[in-house]
Amino acid sequence: MTLHDDEPHGASHNARLNSLRAGVLGANDGIVSVAALVLGVVGSGASASAILTAGLAATVSGAASMALGEYVSVSAQRDSERMMIAKETRELAELPEPEHEELVSMLSSYGMNTTTAETAAQEIAAKDRLLEAHLRLEMGIDGEDLTNPWHAAFWSAVSFLAGAALPLISVFFAPMEMAAAVVAIITLVALAVTGYVSARLANTDATHSMLRLVFGGALGLAITYGIGVAFGGVIG
Ligand SMILES: [Zn+2]
Repeated sequence: MTLHDDEPHGASHNARLNSLRAGVLGANDGIVSVAALVLGVVGSGASASAILTAGLAATVSGAASMALGEYVSVSAQRDSERMMIAKETRELAELPEPEHEELVSMLSSYGMNTTTAETAAQEIAAKDRLLEAHLRLEMGIDGEDLTNPWHAAFWSAVSFLAGAALPLISVFFAPMEMAAAVVAIITLVALAVTGYVSARLANTDATHSMLRLVFGGALGLAITYGIGVAFGGVIG
């Protein structure tokens, strides 16, 4: 990864990558949490209908809590960005001279000499893009591009559901006596795939990411299955 990857011209590209990454993470959550729950219930020796009911409930509640969490966090971020935009707008209106000096010094910090920075600041002002420049250079935010909390909530629910569907569908179709093995295998294969995809998206080592997810997932599944077996013996 070079410095150039963070250049402003890549901003929308980065935003797309970020939402793809968020989608993969959401799918991972869906796969692991529903598969672990289903295995726990299978381990307890529950009936097929109890297993499916629990899996469906986990899918719906997980998607709802992902959506809510995402809505809250994106809303909080958007509120704080709106506050910064309002503050900057006010400062530009009330203190144009200090704000101009500030812009010149920010531009100089990128290596322009003062004369060039002066000219640049004046040209930006002439094009009526001062607010945009201040927001970008001072706070690293893009005033045009506030994330919509409803979008974020919707996509995180959808990605969770897409992930959760895998263990749910596999337990639905697998013969009861093989349900645990089928769910475990499909889950681990799916985690290897999402580990690979997220490593490709992040430009990091794929093997590492796949192993981490598969081992973490296997551990989680083994623990909940074990707990299911233990409690199933006690309660049943
Ligand atoms: Zn400013």
